This record gives sequence, structure tokens and C-alpha cells, in this order.
Amino acid sequence: LIAFLLYLFYLVPPIGQLVQGGVQLQQGLAAMKRIKEIEELPAEPVSVAAPEDGRPVGVRFQDVVFRYGDDRPVVHDGVSFEVPPGGMTALVGPSGAGKSTVFALLERFYEHQDGAILVDGRDIRDWPLAELRAALGYVEQDAPVLAGTLRENLLFAAEDVTEEELHRAIARTRLDDLVARLPEGLETPVGHRGVLLSGGERQRVAIARALLRKPRLLLLDEATSQLDAVNELRLREVIAEVAQETTVLVIAHRLSTVTNADRIVVMEAGGVRAVGTHDDLVGEDELYRELAATQFLVG
Ligand code: ADP
Ligand code: MG
Repeated sequence: LIAFLLYLFYLVPPIGQLVQGGVQLQQGLAAMKRIKEIEELPAEPVSVAAPEDGRPVGVRFQDVVFRYGDDRPVVHDGVSFEVPPGGMTALVGPSGAGKSTVFALLERFYEHQDGAILVDGRDIRDWPLAELRAALGYVEQDAPVLAGTLRENLLFAAEDVTEEELHRAIARTRLDDLVARLPEGLETPVGHRGVLLSGGERQRVAIARALLRKPRLLLLDEATSQLDAVNELRLREVIAEVAQETTVLVIAHRLSTVTNADRIVVMEAGGVRAVGTHDDLVGEDELYRELAATQFLVG
């Protein structure tokens, strides 16, 4: 059984590509559900999920130490920062600084070795895993479009969504223009075998998909591909709007995303180097100034 599970784990990246490549939706969904089940394997206290009140949650990393394996280099070497509930916090820093690893630890894809990670003031090791993941909406970098209709793409992984909620999510993510443009609206097949979506549209579909699960904290690992000016502006609007109801933690790859963040956490080589607003950091932090000068998009 263990060998079989390991085998499935190894399939994870290829499955992402297959789904994008247009394998039948059914197969793609079944495979993704299997992966989810596997991800939920770590030992857990049996518990009934507490009723969700939808309140935005904050996060605190306290001297977190993490390496991907005993024979691997340390990735987080005492990472500390705080994300207050509500509003938007951005993580920035050079490639390899450990930004995406913050999300992997929050989702408990991996266990940190030292320090503490608190979500809503509660150690993530004390959260029932399903409840923790239900509280987090995770938009991975370059999130794939599933083979299927736009509606199926949006409703994937969501439960009990009313038509009204669906349309609200579409409006909040500025996807109305896309729906209007598609020949069969929401029922139009998209992705490899359907209408191809632009990078900005794919990103907003992924955000809408995450929002429909009603997260209390949205984790957005921004795509590194270039967005045109219209899509860049829309993304900013979407984040600002979502941040009024939910906590948004975004790994930012472009300056335009972070300039109006409530706080920016600058990471470098597995540590936090500075925290502040854009204006603070431009004044105080040399690395941030350098990043800002390049407008980012490093990777
Ligand atoms: P960033 O998102 O800031 O570019 P990451 O958190 O992705 O940085 O990666 C930090 C370091 O951890 C890098 O050196 C990267 O190679 C390594 N790393 C990332 N993911 C894994 C993984 N799944 N297994 C082993 N090493 C990893
Ligand atoms: Mg990354």
C-alpha cells in the first residue's frame, strides 16, 4: 500500500500537466480527488469540523525552521512574521527565498521542524487538517485550467454553491467580460480542448474557484508570466476587493500588486529581512529598492 501511495505521489506533477493537456475531466477530477485523499493522510485527531463563521483569520510564523528532508539544506532558518486578520499582506523576495514554502507549510503539505505556525492564534498542529484546509483558499502559481466547462472549472472543489454566489464570485473576480464573450457562456468548454484563456483570465478563474470555497484566508502565489495592463489592473482590483472580506496573503511577483498592500514582508535566503509598506521599504530596505527598480517578475 505504501509503495502504491508513493507511486501516486510521484504522479502529482504529471497529473497537473495531463489535466491541463486535456485529459477527460472525469479522469482529471478523480485523480485530483485521490491526491487530496493522500494529502489528508497525516495522523489526525478525529474531530467533527467546527462550524465555520467565515471570519478572516490571521497568521503568525514564529522562528520557523524547516528543511524539505534531513539531507536537504535548511529552507526556513528562523522565519518570523505576522499577517493580521483582514487586509492584504504581500510576501516578496528573490527566487528561492522560501516564499512558496510558507504556503506549503500553511497547507501542511510538510511539517516544520522547529518554531510555531499559528492560524487564528491556534497552532496549526492543533487544527484538524480538513478544517485548516477548508479555512485556506490556495491559488497556486500558474494554476491549471481543468478540461471542462467554465462552470465546472469554477465549481470544482466547492460545495453547495448557489447560482447567486457563483455570479457574485464571477463579478468579484472581474470575469463577467469573459462569460459574456464565450459562445455558450458558463457552459463553454475551456482549456486545451475548448476556448483558450489568457494568463490573467486563468488566474482569475483560479481565484474565483478558491473564493467559492469561502476561505477565511486566501493564499495567492502569483503567476510569473507577464500580464497585460488591463489584466494587471483587474488583478489589483480583485485583490483589493477580496481583502475587504478575507485575509489575503499574496506571493507577489510584480510591483503593481504590492504597492497598495497593507504590509509587505521581504524574505531573503530563508529569513525575513524587512516588513513595512511600500513607502517604508523604499525608504529603508536596499533589497526592496532593488526589487522595486526591476518591477520584479523574477520567478
Ligand atoms: P520561492 O518561492 O521564494 O522562490 P521556494 O519556497 O519555492 O522559494 O523554495 C525555497 C528553497 O526550497 C529553494 O532552494 C528550492 O529549491 C527548495 N525547494 C522548494 N520546494 C522543494 C521541494 N518540494 N523539495 C525540495 N526542495 C524544495
Ligand atoms: Mg515560489
